[in-house]
Order: sequence, then structure tokens, then C-alpha cells
Amino acid sequence: MKKSVHFLTLALIFISISFQSYALNKPKYIFLFIGDGMGISQVALTEAYLASLKGTRGSEPLIFSKFPSYGLCTTYSANYHITCSSAAGTALSTGTKTNNYMLGVDPDTNKLKSISYKLHEKGLSIGIISTVPLEQATPAAFYANSASRKSYYDISLQLPQSGFEFFGGGDFTDPKGKNNDKRDIFEILADSNYTIIRGFQDFEKKKGSEKIAFFQSKGKDSEMPFAIDRKEDDIKLSDVVKVGIDHLYKNKKGFFMMAEGGKIDWAAHSNDAKTDILEIIDFADAVETAYNFYLKHPDETLIIVTADHDTGGASLGRDKGGYIIDFNSFSDQTSSFAVDNEIIKKYSERNEKANIGWTTSGHTGVYVPVYSIGAGSQRFSGRLDNTDIPKRIMEVMKIKF
Ligand SMILES: [Zn+2]
Repeated sequence: MKKSVHFLTLALIFISISFQSYALNKPKYIFLFIGDGMGISQVALTEAYLASLKGTRGSEPLIFSKFPSYGLCTTYSANYHITCSSAAGTALSTGTKTNNYMLGVDPDTNKLKSISYKLHEKGLSIGIISTVPLEQATPAAFYANSASRKSYYDISLQLPQSGFEFFGGGDFTDPKGKNNDKRDIFEILADSNYTIIRGFQDFEKKKGSEKIAFFQSKGKDSEMPFAIDRKEDDIKLSDVVKVGIDHLYKNKKGFFMMAEGGKIDWAAHSNDAKTDILEIIDFADAVETAYNFYLKHPDETLIIVTADHDTGGASLGRDKGGYIIDFNSFSDQTSSFAVDNEIIKKYSERNEKANIGWTTSGHTGVYVPVYSIGAGSQRFSGRLDNTDIPKRIMEVMKIKF
């Protein structure tokens, strides 16, 4: 009897230790997806839209909302209840809150170190991706420090200095500075041993390069187009993620990739529901690319999907709108709306007909969702603050923060 109790105790200890080591599996490949401005109500709206396409009422889940680990995250900045993208990006990249409009520095403008640098020092390859220009707040928070998020040229100069292995998506708003009188950032990139690749055909020719900056074909805008406006020869976020994985996977020590759906925020600023919804579906497609990678490396991959803040304060239902959400009012919409108050007013009629509410053309201070799957994902559930996310990435990587 005594012997069997002893055996049972040992077995229980063994089970508990192996469960813990499984739960705290150290990832080798880390994906951090940030839907800029992607509040939980917009996710709900997108899932309702997907259900309506199937002819049903309800909610058709996006890939990331089926992830097993789920949390809610506070987003306030050091000086406001409602954050801007640079303060939120800084919290997500460095684990420190700062003031709105500051980037990679604390409120006293002391430089902070992004986890991308810390992971790089440990031998991981780094990829920074966005659909918006790379000197914009969210991608920049992962490689730059600036007292002002608007110092675009100074921020862009820090990109080649980072030495990170992959940049992709949008390129630069002011490649020669605000007054067009500075040295071209593309030249500086080339001098810093970055191979500039434009579009897929170019990628096939140059993919052996050590450091890659992968942009759209020549002559396109500095940001990637909205999904709703995309032409056949435009690249999409999932393409950039795919190319990024292909390039970063060469490093046997692993990689960290931050990929931002930057224009979800822009569509929400315009209260442009259909553009916003299609942008979120596009973002989910990019997450699916990472998920397919996870399926091949389930014990070594961590995928985290979150937002930096909510934009627009969307709601399913609005004052005196009743219970029905009707997406038919968007059925003839085939392009995005410009950020223009008159246009917003005109198209607010569509929102009204659909019974979709928006409370602001700015940001809100509500929680954002955190979805995760894979090695260490259990540490990203429950109530989180945005500063916890980089801290916990370091924790699961067993790197001192
Ligand atoms: Zn915004």
C-alpha cells in the first residue's frame, strides 16, 4: 500500500513537471501581430460581416479569435487615458509607458531599448513589417528612439542602423526629408548592405541577400493600399509576412517578427466600416500565414495577436437602431473613403442604415484583445497591461528584462 502511494506521488510530480515544462516551452520563432486601432468591437463587427456573407446571422470567427489563449489589455499612456500609437508602440516594444507622441523614449526623453534589440543580441533574426510607411509610430517603436514621432527622417535613419535582417511593407513618406534636401534613405539603406527588393519578381532574383528591405513595385505609394482598393499587382500583408518568414527562417537560432496591420486604424479614423472590416480580414490572412508556419513548428512557435489601442469606438447597434445589423448598405462600396469630414458625413448614412455606431474619429481608451497560441502562450492570458507583453515575451524566452 505504502509503495503504491509513493508511486502515485512520484507519478503526479512527474506529470506536473512535464505539464509545466510544456506550458513554459521556450519559443524559437515569435510573431507579434499588431492590428493598429483594432478594438474588440471591430473584430466582432468583422465576424458578423463574415457570417452575413454566409447568409447567417451571428459570428464567423477570424483565425486568431479561435486561438486558445485569450487576454484583455489596458492601453493608457503615461500622460493620457487614451494613447496614441507611438506611446502604445513604445509600451509594446520596451515595456515602459511614455507620453503620447513620444517614441522609444521615456517621458524624460531617455532612450529605451526595444525587445527587438535584446532578441537580436541573443542571436535571433529580426523582421519589422507594416502596411504603412516604416517610419510611422508602430513599426518605428521597434527600431527607433525619438522625442517626437513626427521626426520622420531622423527616425528613418535609425532603420539601417538597426542591422535587423528584414524590413517590409510600406516604405518611406519623406525619403529625402521634409524639405527634400537630405540624402536619400534608399541610398543609405543600400550603403548599409540592405538589398532593396521591389515586388515578387525582384525577390526571386535577390532572395539570397543577408539583409532585405522588401517593398512594393516602383511607382507605388509609400504605404500599401487598403485591401478594398488593391490592384492585382499590389502586394498584401500576408505576402510580406510570407517573404519575411522565408528570409528569417534561415537563422537556426530563430526569429522575432513584428507585423502591423497599420491601416485598420486609418479606416477606423474615417469611420469607414467596410474598409475597416476588409482590412481586418486581410490582417487575419497574414496571421494565417504565421499559423501555417506554427503548424509545422508547434513546439517552437509563439504567435501573439493584439492591438495598440481601439480607434473609432465602433459598436454593433446604435441609438434608436433596433436589433438588426444590415450589411447590405455597404454592398455597392468598392473603394475606401478619404479622411475628410464631409465624406465621413455622407457615408455616415451607410453606417446609420447598417445600425453600426462610431463614437469618435479618434482613438478610445477601452481594453484591446490579446490572442495567442503556441509555446509560452499561456503567459498572455487574463488581464494584461500593454507593458506586460514585451516583458512576458522576454520571460518565456528566459532572457533577463
Ligand atoms: Zn490612430
